[in-house]
Amino acid sequence: MTAIRSNRRAAIACLLALTFAGAIASQASAASPAEVLLQGEASQKNARRPASDEDRRLRDERAAMVRTQIAARGVRNDAVLATMARVPRHEFVPTAELRWAYEDGPLPIGHGQTISQPYIVAFMTEILRVEPNDRVLEVGTGSGYQVAILAELAKEVVSIEIIKPLAQSAAKRLERLGYRNITVLDGDGYFGWESAAPYDAIVVTAAATHVPPPLVAQLKPGGRMAIPVGDTAWTQNLLLIEKDKEGKLTTRNLIPVRFVPLTRER
Ligand code: SAM
Repeated sequence: MTAIRSNRRAAIACLLALTFAGAIASQASAASPAEVLLQGEASQKNARRPASDEDRRLRDERAAMVRTQIAARGVRNDAVLATMARVPRHEFVPTAELRWAYEDGPLPIGHGQTISQPYIVAFMTEILRVEPNDRVLEVGTGSGYQVAILAELAKEVVSIEIIKPLAQSAAKRLERLGYRNITVLDGDGYFGWESAAPYDAIVVTAAATHVPPPLVAQLKPGGRMAIPVGDTAWTQNLLLIEKDKEGKLTTRNLIPVRFVPLTRER
């Protein structure tokens, strides 16, 4: 969710399901140049830091966030709830925003971008039904928070960010926090990342005007994609696209959301 703090109420209110018949083009993908900033390894274990007293206080704030913002709104998946309670969101927000790290809304992260509302991160993760052997693609690394959540649930995650300074700082942060199964790329995520395709799950955390055909092509049969799609900056529809074993696509429109736009290579 991308509205900054002052827009939080409107963003949170957007929880009603709509109906939508999504049409998806299926032409072939074009390759996009992208730079690898952090190279993950599916075989490597993510490292864990020992908890300090400060961590314990923040852990309690996280537990409250999970209870009152996420479980209370209907997220039920135990693994997702446990991961949201474990990953230190405060590590992903700028110093000036630290005191709001566990509040119920998106926060600015610089360059006009945001770290999404915790509930939306949890909801999108839940609908992706990530399994421990899955390979996942995220478009829109931002702070790196969503990819960290996914990396705790999946075997390997590739994340692409179009704003280089954000991609660089997210890569450094994820490395410092001990994530070993994440690859961070700087580039235009519209084209996905063919080298690691196909993916069991794809999540796009910026609003597209249409579903990028290269992402559909890189989704495995049996795979799931969550993507906000819409023409306006104010509200978009969060779509869940599923590809069955025969490659047939089903699209469901789940909830209205508000994300920053998916931009194209500058
Ligand atoms: N997932 C992020 C997190 O956990 O902090 C929040 C993402 S923020 C709402 C959307 C991000 O998508 C921004 O950082 C923006 O620069 C990025 N973005 C926009 N268009 C993109 C594109 N074509 N390819 C890759 N990233 C893009």
